[in-house]
Amino acid sequence: MHGPFLQSRQRSGQWAADPVGGRRGRRVVSSRQLYDLQQIETQVQQRQRSRKGIVEKLADTMALQAAQQQAVATRKALDTARADLKDAELLSQQIAKKIKDADNQLYSGRTSNTKELVNLQSDLKMLKRQVKEAENQVIEMMAKVEQAEKAAAAAQVKAEVMEQDRAKQKVVLTQEQGQLTQEIANLERDAAQAKTGLPPQTLGLYQTIKTARGGVAVSAMSGGLCRACGMQLPSHVLQKVRADKELVRCTSCGRILFAA
Ligand SMILES: [Zn+2]
Repeated sequence: MHGPFLQSRQRSGQWAADPVGGRRGRRVVSSRQLYDLQQIETQVQQRQRSRKGIVEKLADTMALQAAQQQAVATRKALDTARADLKDAELLSQQIAKKIKDADNQLYSGRTSNTKELVNLQSDLKMLKRQVKEAENQVIEMMAKVEQAEKAAAAAQVKAEVMEQDRAKQKVVLTQEQGQLTQEIANLERDAAQAKTGLPPQTLGLYQTIKTARGGVAVSAMSGGLCRACGMQLPSHVLQKVRADKELVRCTSCGRILFAA
């Protein structure tokens, strides 16, 4: 299916600089045309890769989601800290009221029973110890609330900044995506047009070499070298390539040579 080219390589172990096209009765194909086609197709591939990268970026919301989750979590922690503070304040107030009641009873003169007075004083002592503990608890909880407020505010700001950045990024990326899609469509049209000028056999050869040689079917020839594989080319090959009357392949890698 590859014509005499593969066969000649199989025989000699080398790609023969066989002519392709340009024979009697066939239109002469300049290597320039194939080189141009390759350039267009390479540009299509580059843009397709860029577009794929954009699609991936648009789909990747992990960092934003993590920031949003962090904002929710710190907000919950703040609510809990505030509820704990309220409880501590309530307890402190309740004990303070008990102290006030006991004080009132003690100094009202209504209690004259010694045992009762002793009990009241003992209760007061205990209550005052308890209120001290409760007040310490309130102070501790206030510090925790303050800390939680800072953490929640920071997480909220971070999430908001990321949301804004994301929105801006989305606009830019979507725009780039649209532009690339347009460019790809234009280039594909150019490629199709470039192909219409080429005989099917030449196109088939181009595709075969392209597939076999890492997407590069046409190599520039300069300084007497095939630029794709770096091999020095025989002088008769150089002459044929420069003459551009037929397609000439590198004697080493088999790529179609183009005089750069
Ligand atoms: Zn080569």
